[in-house]
Amino acid sequence: MNNTKWTKHELGLLSVWYPTKGVRGIQGLIKRTSGAIRCKANRLRLSCDKPLNQYPNWNTDEVEFLQKWYKAFGPDWCVKKLSRSKPSVLHKAQVLNLKYDRPYDGESNGNWQGGITTEYQKVRNSEEYNQWRLQVFNRDGFKCVSCGKPGKGIHAHHIKSFSKYAKLRLDVDNGITLCKKCHSELHDMPVLLC
Ligand SMILES: [Zn+2]
Ligand SMILES: [Zn+2]
Repeated sequence: MNNTKWTKHELGLLSVWYPTKGVRGIQGLIKRTSGAIRCKANRLRLSCDKPLNQYPNWNTDEVEFLQKWYKAFGPDWCVKKLSRSKPSVLHKAQVLNLKYDRPYDGESNGNWQGGITTEYQKVRNSEEYNQWRLQVFNRDGFKCVSCGKPGKGIHAHHIKSFSKYAKLRLDVDNGITLCKKCHSELHDMPVLLC
């Protein structure tokens, strides 16, 4: 945080560049927080209409975070983890062309209890499936990727749902390690397996 008085030089840079470069551009020129820059620009009635800057204060770490996890966890989870507003997360995801497939879409109507369960049991008891889980766990260091909790009781969650994406069931890239708690949170219900 830098709340010191703005120098003339900084104010000059702000009024010259803010309208075209926006907050991000200004941050390359002066060392101020995005909040401070926006606040100052508002006070000076400077506006920037570049669409990129509609939610201007994403830093690289946040963008990388979103790119890495949005597809698996979706907007609500990212909102929580990044402490951002939902519109901001949704907008950024759109800009980055990230899509989230809600787990269990269309399965809450009882389908899950019937045919899918039987089919699932079959696959789940297979050696390939065991290998898949191990590979997922191994890649993630046997830790929940959401909260970091290690060890016992971890699940391998299918990013693209088991039922809708049969081809991806044993794709390691489609698996992610979660603890029981985070997994249930993600599905909005208690989950034993997925
Ligand atoms: Zn967890
Ligand atoms: Zn799951």
